[in-house]
Amino acid sequence: MKGGRHIENDKIKATDQNGIIDSLFADCRDAFFDDTDQNGITNDINYPDHFTVFKFGITSNQADFEGAIQKLGIHNAIMFTTPLSDNYTLNHEVMHGFGLTHTHRDTSILISGYKYIFPCGIKTDFQSTGKSTDATDNTMAYNQRTYSLWCWQWKIANPNIT
Ligand SMILES: [Zn+2]
Repeated sequence: MKGGRHIENDKIKATDQNGIIDSLFADCRDAFFDDTDQNGITNDINYPDHFTVFKFGITSNQADFEGAIQKLGIHNAIMFTTPLSDNYTLNHEVMHGFGLTHTHRDTSILISGYKYIFPCGIKTDFQSTGKSTDATDNTMAYNQRTYSLWCWQWKIANPNIT
């Protein structure tokens, strides 16, 4: 039986008129961390520094929404099941959690962390048509098939890499 404040019409209410509902991330994490193992130890003690990914077996209220990271550099993501579920979005969102930005431009003001800007594989506010053949196959690109990361990205995702 489904229920709770994040369920609406048997779907996860992930977005509203303001975009992604931020409380969904914290509520998932809080529910997980408050749960206990067979010894009564809470998950916040068992998994204090782990990257959490919450996968829902249903769609959200936005049917094509695959998932998102709570915030750049925060180790907490949510994923949904959609008719078009792919093999790329989880990798992409987790790398956002490790601090990687997109490899294409998607803001009017470049934020810290943007190192190089490449064409985007889909239409954006800054690009009138998708350029899938010019876009990269980088995990942080929007393109039809992404699978690579570059060495400078490894160093952002894991500062122990030299
Ligand atoms: Zn992204």
